[in-house]
Amino acid sequence: ALQAGIVGLPNVGKSTLFNAVSNSAKAQASNYRFCTIEPNTGLVDVPDERLDKLAGFVKPERIVPTQVAIVDIAGLVRGASKGEGLGNKFLANIREVDAIIHVIRCFEDENILRDEGPINPVGDKEIIDTELQLKDLESVEKKFSRVEKMLKTGDPKIKAEYETLKRCKDHLEQGKSIRELSLSKEERTAIADLFLLTEKSVLYVANVDEASMHTGNKFSEALKAAVAGENAQVIVMNNSIEAQISEMEDPADRELFMEEYKMTEPALSKLIRSVYKLLDLATYFTAGVQEVRAWTIHEGWKAPQAASVIHTDFEKGFIKAEVIAYKDFIQYGSEAAARDAGKLRIEGKDYVVKDGDVMHFRFNV
Ligand code: GDP
Repeated sequence: ALQAGIVGLPNVGKSTLFNAVSNSAKAQASNYRFCTIEPNTGLVDVPDERLDKLAGFVKPERIVPTQVAIVDIAGLVRGASKGEGLGNKFLANIREVDAIIHVIRCFEDENILRDEGPINPVGDKEIIDTELQLKDLESVEKKFSRVEKMLKTGDPKIKAEYETLKRCKDHLEQGKSIRELSLSKEERTAIADLFLLTEKSVLYVANVDEASMHTGNKFSEALKAAVAGENAQVIVMNNSIEAQISEMEDPADRELFMEEYKMTEPALSKLIRSVYKLLDLATYFTAGVQEVRAWTIHEGWKAPQAASVIHTDFEKGFIKAEVIAYKDFIQYGSEAAARDAGKLRIEGKDYVVKDGDVMHFRFNV
């Protein structure tokens, strides 16, 4: 599964968020699973109401949602790029994730320790960004000096690589993240081997106090303004409330509690859906009587590649796919009815799978 890592300064609410994720998945109806892979890593189901609607028609034995892995990367502090507080270990953990959930403290509470003075969401974000940028600069500079020595070969490919690295280096030196630099496909390929930390997609969690969970506060507003240019989402939530909701095993208790806080769903569900989007993922469904299941692919994948997610042999032996758009399946209520209405399409190996397609693959074994 693809991974999202939770990062942030100490005492901002990272573990509270991680615990909320792990508990909520456990407490859900039995078809929602959470499994802890390591103490700080868990696989969580992606809530998708389309899956439940499909299952409502098909009435399968099992419902299987897609999952993403959430990793709690604790321990980032000022100076991490210089090895402070096991900094290098944590930075290595970030290198392995596909996207970043950056938790920012937007609540005041004098009982909860803070090393960095008064609450300052933008300053906190910059501390973490700086550490990641410094680490990236180290990686870029290493490759830059290697490539610089090869310039005299006159190879145009080397020259292009040199130019790309130069752009990245200048950008990082200005205290900016690589995700804010617009790079061509060729340029991206040239730096792909560096697995730069600041190239990864990020979403921000503004951890606000109870009173501000629906409205935000001056801290979350400041954060939003500061990241406006990054094209990144800011989710305003209260991690403690989420953790409390997740600990309630009885759905009726949970409903009551959420009603009291005027919540229609846990903010966590929204967060997980946003993470899924952030990872640039799409979902297709298979709808059989044994199981109705959601499968994860990347946007733009063609049918054979999408089939390989079910089984690698499906890609090699791919013949064709029978496809019903989600909307049509729901409108007609079954595969047979959709087929009768002319809504079942036969697609070949060049078909680009759309988010929500209900698929049935034909293949040679
Ligand atoms: P981490 O170091 O980032 O993992 O932070 P924790 O999740 O361990 O939280 C640090 C402390 O802040 C704990 O005592 C939490 O109960 C508390 N905390 C977390 N979220 C909130 C919040 O939204 N409001 C308040 N007042 N306290 C919170």
